Amino acid sequence: MKILIAADMEGITGVVDWDQVMPGNPDYPRFRKLMTDDVNATIRGAFAGGATAVTVTDGHNNGRNIMIEEIDSRASLTSGSPAPLSMVSSVDAGVDGVMFVGYHGRMGAINAILDHTWSDERVSGLWINDRAFGEAGLNGAVCGHFNVPIIMGSGDQTLCAEVREFFGNQIETAQVKKAVSRMAAECLPPEQTGKLIEEVAKRAVINLKSGKAPKPFTVSKPIKMRVEFEQSEMADKASYMPHAKRAEDRCVEYIADDIGIIYQAFRTMLALAK
Ligand SMILES: [Zn+2]
Repeated sequence: MKILIAADMEGITGVVDWDQVMPGNPDYPRFRKLMTDDVNATIRGAFAGGATAVTVTDGHNNGRNIMIEEIDSRASLTSGSPAPLSMVSSVDAGVDGVMFVGYHGRMGAINAILDHTWSDERVSGLWINDRAFGEAGLNGAVCGHFNVPIIMGSGDQTLCAEVREFFGNQIETAQVKKAVSRMAAECLPPEQTGKLIEEVAKRAVINLKSGKAPKPFTVSKPIKMRVEFEQSEMADKASYMPHAKRAEDRCVEYIADDIGIIYQAFRTMLALAK
C-alpha cells in the first residue's frame, strides 16, 4: 500500500497571504515549517492507517518548500521544478492512492484562500470538456490516467467542497481553515490541525484498503481543454502552441485523447504566455 502525498502551500495551516508562501518574504520560513508539519501529520496518519510506503511531492512554486531535514524519516521527498509530472510526480511509480495536502480552490471560487489555477497572473479560467477545473481536478485527472484515486484533501472549506464535487463524497477531507474572503480566514492552530490531518489521513488509507475510497477520476475522450488568459497578449502567445486553436477573446482551446498530453499542453501554453 503505497501512498503519494501531493503537497501545495496555499491550503496549509494558517496561510492567508502570498507573502507567506513566496520565498524571500520574512514570513515564508515560518510557513514552510508549517507546510512540513502538515505533511508530517499526513505521513503519520497514512502509516497508522496501514500504508507500507509513503512518498511526498512538493508541488508549490519551485517545489523547494518542504524541509527535508524535518520530514518523517519513513518517507521520501520529490523536490525541485520542473518535473515531467509536476505537482503529481511519482504517481506513475506504483502508487495506490493520492492525498492532496495544502490544496486551494480553483480560480474564481468564492471564499477560497489564494484561489488560482496554476498561475493567478496568467490564467483566469480552465475548462475541461466544458467543466470548470482547478488544480485539484486537473491533477486528479492525471492521477486517474494512472488508475490512482484521490483519497484525501486538506485546505479551506471551499477546497474541501471542490474535491468532494470532483472525486465524490467518499473522499476524506481535513478543513484547516474557514475562508471569509480570498485573503482572510478563521484558522485552526497547528496543534489542532496536526491531529485532524493525521486522523483524516489514517481514515483515508483504511477506506482505501477496504474498498470504500473514491474510484480513480477520469475525463471522457476526446478531451477538450479551454484556457482563458488574463490578457489577450497571453492568449496570442499561447496560441502559437502547435494544434492549439484561438477561440474567442482571451481563450485558447486544445483537443487531445490523452490527459497527459493535455497536462503538457496546458503547462507549455502557460510558459509561452509568460
Ligand atoms: Zn501553490
